[in-house]
Order: sequence, then C-alpha cells, then structure tokens
Amino acid sequence: MSVLAILSRPSLEAPAARPSSEPFELADPDVPHLSVLDLAATRGDGVFETVSARFGRPHALDAHLRRFARSSALLDLPAPDLPAWRSAILAVASELADAGEALIKVVLSRGVEGGAAPTGWVHGAAAPDFTAARTRGIRVVFLDRGYRHDVEQTSPWLLAGAKTLSYAVNRAVLREAARRGADDVIFVSSDGVVLEGPTSTVLFRSGDRLLTPGTGLGILEGTTQGDVFAWAESAGIETGYALLGPEELAQADAIWLVSSGRHAAPVRELDGVARAVDADLTARINAHLLDREH
Ligand code: PLP
Repeated sequence: MSVLAILSRPSLEAPAARPSSEPFELADPDVPHLSVLDLAATRGDGVFETVSARFGRPHALDAHLRRFARSSALLDLPAPDLPAWRSAILAVASELADAGEALIKVVLSRGVEGGAAPTGWVHGAAAPDFTAARTRGIRVVFLDRGYRHDVEQTSPWLLAGAKTLSYAVNRAVLREAARRGADDVIFVSSDGVVLEGPTSTVLFRSGDRLLTPGTGLGILEGTTQGDVFAWAESAGIETGYALLGPEELAQADAIWLVSSGRHAAPVRELDGVARAVDADLTARINAHLLDREH
C-alpha cells in the first residue's frame, strides 16, 4: 500500500500548481500525475527529503522541514510553504499508521519547464525490513568523492550540502560498492577527509565518545545523527565532531552509517577488513530511534 498527497501550492512565493482551497489533495499513487516536461524528471532540478514514520508518527519532522527549506534556498527555488508541507506529511503518515514503519518521500521540483509553478508531492509506503542491516551490520568501502572538503565554501554552485533530486551519482556508487563486494559507501574528499555515505551520516565511537565529521564539508546535516546525539547526551554519552582520514576512522572502536529509514547500521567490514560490531550500543541507538515520539 502506498499513499500520495499532491500539494496545491507548494510555495506561497509562486503561483499555485492546481486550483484548490486545500493545501494538498490525496491522489491515486498508481496512476501518472507528473508532466513529462517537469524539471524533476528532465533535469533532476529540485529537492527532496525522506522521512521515516512509525505507527503514523513522522520522525524528526522539524529537522527535515528545516533542511528541506535550506536545500530549496541553495537551489534558488521558491521557499516551500512549510505548514502546507507539514500537513501533507502528517496526513500521509497517518494513512500509513497500520504499516508500522513507513518511508515518506517529500519532493519539490521547479515545475514544468517554462512555467512558474513549482510541483510538490509527498509519497509514503511501508518501509522494507531493515533488521539485518541494523543488527548484523553492513560491509562498506571508501570511495573518493573527487571534491575537496572545503567545496561548500569554494564552489557553492556545486550544491554540495543540498539534498537535490540529482542522485544518480549516489546510486552509481552503490553499484560500485556491489562490484567491490560491499553494501554501502563512505565518501572521502579528494584531500583525504572522511565525509558521509551516499544516503547516510558517518558516526563512530572512540572510547566513550560518539563522533561525526560535522557540517561545512559539503555534506548533509543528518536528522538521524542529530537525534542520536541528543539521545546520547541525555544518556550521559559525550558527543563531538572530528575531521579525520580513512586510516584514522578505521581505528575507531565502532562505526555506523545512520539515516532515516535504515537508522543505525553498524559497519561490520571496512574496505574488506572485518570489524567488531558494538551490538549493545547499536541496539540502544536503534531502540531510541524507533521509539521517537516525533
Ligand atoms: N547524507 C546524505 C547524502 C543523505 O542522502 C542522507 C539521507 O538520505 C543523509 C546523509 C542522512 O540524513 P538523514 O539522517 O536525515 O536521513
């Protein structure tokens, strides 16, 4: 089962996409709705979020909406009408309450080429079963992203740090990982700094501290990482940010890739070398992420 909500007016700064007094309308997800001229389809010119939900409650919704607005601004898109988007996401989540865990994709595109109205929709479906990745763990390889770690400052037009619809590279690296016998990837900058996964944030434990590379590196500010840090601090675990290279990361006591949906996936193999998984901390983190109230 899947659920679709189409925004009537995704941004108050731009004309409405469809005449309606309601902020969104539920629509049949099994029939086509998108124009073949929509810039989402022809150029990947738009932004998105993937929000996890459980029993009808979306996780980290405020953080997702903040990042959605930030990505839109980086692409010079008209600012999303956040209350309208929030109501559409809540409606889709609530339709999926019986699905248990759900994944909700939130998309804003520049709209039909030549037009002024952006296109927006929210689509949700039951999440796949992530149990194996969350418990047994994943095999990861390092791949060079080809940009320096300061790309966000030197070349903002590359949109590093925005969650754009242009994710063909993020898919290609997973195929490269599979060719190398791995499940996922950690990007490294051309000058040797550990960055992020193609759909996840890197988290690691060094002694009794939980660390992550932090922002400003042309990477996304992870909503899941933010929630893990907030939980860790309340549980008395120290958190922090660390710039480091792949060899230093390999020395960490435990490594995870964290993201909406899959939550915390412990890294059980790095560049072909088996690693110990911190099963206890992994279980605590995932229990917290699953039980989040919002
Ligand atoms: N980095 C990238 C490139 C991503 O695409 C994602 C999520 O899809 C993340 C990090 C993790 O973000 P979040 O925890 O908000 O899902």
